[in-house]
Amino acid sequence: MKTRTRFAPSPTGELHIGGLKTALNDYLIAKNAGGNFILRVEDTDQKRLVEGSVERMLKALQWAGIEVDEGVRLAKSKKLKVKSRDSNSHNDRALALGEVGDYGPYTQSKRLDIYKKYIDKLVVEKKAYPCFCSSERLDKVRQEQQNNKQAPKYDRHCLNLSNEEIQKKIESGEKYVIRFKIPEGYTNFKDDVFGKISVKNENLDDFIIMKSDGFPTYHLAVVVDDYLMKISHTVRGAEWLPSAPKHVLLYEAFGWRKDMPQFVHMPNILNKNGKKLSKREGSVSVVDFKRQGYPAEGVINFIALLGWNPKTQQEIFTMEELVKQFDISKMNKAGGVFDMDRLDWISNQHFKKMSIDDLYQRGIKFLEKQDFYQEFLRLIKKGAREISSLEDYVKNVLVVEQERLSKFTEIGVENKFFFQGADNLKYALNDISWKNNTNAEAKQILEKVKEKLEDIPEDNWIQNKIQEVLLELAGDKRGDYLFPLRWVLTGQQKSPSPFEILWVLEKDESLKRIERAIEMF
Ligand code: GLU
Repeated sequence: MKTRTRFAPSPTGELHIGGLKTALNDYLIAKNAGGNFILRVEDTDQKRLVEGSVERMLKALQWAGIEVDEGVRLAKSKKLKVKSRDSNSHNDRALALGEVGDYGPYTQSKRLDIYKKYIDKLVVEKKAYPCFCSSERLDKVRQEQQNNKQAPKYDRHCLNLSNEEIQKKIESGEKYVIRFKIPEGYTNFKDDVFGKISVKNENLDDFIIMKSDGFPTYHLAVVVDDYLMKISHTVRGAEWLPSAPKHVLLYEAFGWRKDMPQFVHMPNILNKNGKKLSKREGSVSVVDFKRQGYPAEGVINFIALLGWNPKTQQEIFTMEELVKQFDISKMNKAGGVFDMDRLDWISNQHFKKMSIDDLYQRGIKFLEKQDFYQEFLRLIKKGAREISSLEDYVKNVLVVEQERLSKFTEIGVENKFFFQGADNLKYALNDISWKNNTNAEAKQILEKVKEKLEDIPEDNWIQNKIQEVLLELAGDKRGDYLFPLRWVLTGQQKSPSPFEILWVLEKDESLKRIERAIEMF
């Protein structure tokens, strides 16, 4: 059987971290086996629909590097059947949705006649029946069961209605649902993560398969669609595990048991206290990670390791490596812990691997949003800061910062002095001299530094050269030299090394900053 997995979100809001994990695992299972990753929209609960959420979820997946092979996709080419629809305020650009594939439609609300056919079949075969009970009656039954310490369950009040009674009720306009008649016995199946599962059917309720609005319920639609779309693995969160026996019974009722997909229920994502992660706990929507400046490959790597690991020492993976190595049998039953420090660490490892060009292309958008950078651009325009090339300048800043970045939004933030003018640096003269040195001594030191730096030709203004010259000058008095130098270049006590800073600032600006300090003494 060809490996075909599906991510089946309900379009009720943003793509959350749990959804991304499901989609990622679907994607990895499919790609690992050379199969297809399908996106199906499960919109049978019409009351909960949020306009534009499919588009935004697809965009979030695209950002994460998860490409949909089949099903609902963002329309890119004219080949797709395009349905244009404006997305809401989250995005200015109108996004169009399209569908590709031979098993469509891939949106459940467009498949109502298909579900109807299968529901009718179950009714005719007496495997399902209409139920006319009012919600008041159902509440009463439930209350009585509770009082008798029984598990709440439909009491099959409508199971034995005659065809005439049913007909009469329907004709008189009574509202009804269709319930599945749970057979006797046991339901057994295997889950790839949780192992063998067996439930006594007695403990299952005659669940609803068609609602009074004529829409199928999730249970019916998911089984019909997974079967008709030839899904090989049903991958989803462990919160769906209690529903799986119902689905198995539906597969059996339709005579599809031998073609039933493999179940892969993934453990929940846990917070640091070992509890299921709730939406309230910080930012769990994927787009928030993007806005916070995390690189997609870091987020994907982090998510992949929640509940899975290759059982080797490797911790940093590209998507290609994950595709190659992903193996369901190495998924854990215990949930992975959502630890932002770990995300930062993983993300930092990916930053270290980026080329400066890539880092620049992706980072500049974030830098441009910073006020300090906009101020820098104004200084350049006014002629108050001179640099040889803006792009090269920013790239040099990135060379210096790369090792420490975890997010694109961090670029420049700790080192704003790169983007300021000499006059904006604030420091007190008394702070800048090393240990017991007097101000006069500090001034003398800076004069010597200035002289030496002036001798370095512009075209040899590279880190190694600068370092060599200054270390030779300082001899065994590095603190005496480098401490005040750092202060006057940056206006801060902590920063990257003065050699790196001098290199980035370029010769003119570096000398200007040193001269300004000398004048201040
Ligand atoms: N539509 C369901 C959800 O939103 C999907 C469950 C499943 O994958 O079977 O979670």
